Order: sequence, then C-alpha cells, then structure tokens
Amino acid sequence: MKITIKVDSDLCIGAGSCVAVDSNSFELNEENKAYVLDHGQAPEPATYERTVEVTPEELDRALLAAQSCPVLAVTITDENGKQLYPEI
Ligand code: SF4
Repeated sequence: MKITIKVDSDLCIGAGSCVAVDSNSFELNEENKAYVLDHGQAPEPATYERTVEVTPEELDRALLAAQSCPVLAVTITDENGKQLYPEI
C-alpha cells in the first residue's frame, strides 16, 4: 500500500525518536528537523512530506515512529486520504 508521511517542521523539536524507531523513513537535517525518506533514500529535493510504497511491516514501523514523537509532528495518511495517525 501507499502511505503519505508528513512531518510538521514547525512542530518538530528534533527529538529524534522517529529516526531511532524508523531510520528508513526519517532523518534529521541540518536544522534538526526530521524529513522523510523513501526506504532509507532521500530523493532530491529532501521534503517533509513523501508518499511511499510500504509493506504492512513497514507501515507498522512508520506508525510506531509517529507514535514516538513527543509533539505529534508526524501525520500518516493512507492512499485514500484517511488519516491513520494521529487517529481522529
Ligand atoms: S520524533 Fe517528532 S520531534 Fe522528534 S525528530 Fe521526529 S518529528 Fe521531530
């Protein structure tokens, strides 16, 4: 399935927990903000939002990473636009 991972860079405080949990999807930039990777790769331009194809295991990992963010800066939506996290 495809999901869209988005980091709100205004909220991100660079705590790095998302990177620690899912380094395939997140990396910190020089501003100490998490941007979104595609399976460990950062196709140019580096962006705070990216749509990626994931396995169920990869989705779980991305959801865990989003849940680990202390400031709820990570949003994950599915390919139909349904927000998977945070739950609404
Ligand atoms: S866990 Fe949240 S605050 Fe920390 S780097 Fe990731 S997005 Fe930013």
